[in-house]
Amino acid sequence: MPQRTQTDPTRIQHILSVIFSQPRPPVARCRLLSSGLGPAHMLKVSEDIVGTKACLGCGSCMDACPVLARDPKRRLRCDARSSMALETLIGEDCDRCGNCVLACPQVDTTIKHYLIQTHLAEGMVELLAKAASDEVYVVDLLLSH
Ligand code: SF4
Ligand code: SF4
Repeated sequence: MPQRTQTDPTRIQHILSVIFSQPRPPVARCRLLSSGLGPAHMLKVSEDIVGTKACLGCGSCMDACPVLARDPKRRLRCDARSSMALETLIGEDCDRCGNCVLACPQVDTTIKHYLIQTHLAEGMVELLAKAASDEVYVVDLLLSH
């Protein structure tokens, strides 16, 4: 839940293009480029954490990752549910689908919209190609519906 005034992606277009073109999990870098936690958070903490860009350890990025969905045994290598865990488990096997960025509550909506408008179609084509050639992933999809 980012701040009301968020990062303007047109001012960091070059950086975002590099991030979204690399086969590595993009969520942590997008989180750090975002505006940080908004004041309406519901976390029960006494200190002022508005604006923090830290990973919340919610694991939403990991749940949304197709690489982990296709190969769930990878999850057994790490108990944490954080962006660092995602980077450890995925490495350079990233499909560049952008799901982790879209799922992260700490990434600005502006950056998510930039991703959707500029890079998502490209990433989805790659993801569909892999899904079509990967029997296990197809079974996973069927089981989840
Ligand atoms: S969700 Fe997509 S972009 Fe994110 S790490 Fe997994 S494959 Fe890469
Ligand atoms: S989705 Fe959750 S675990 Fe992943 S980077 Fe964002 S805050 Fe961290």
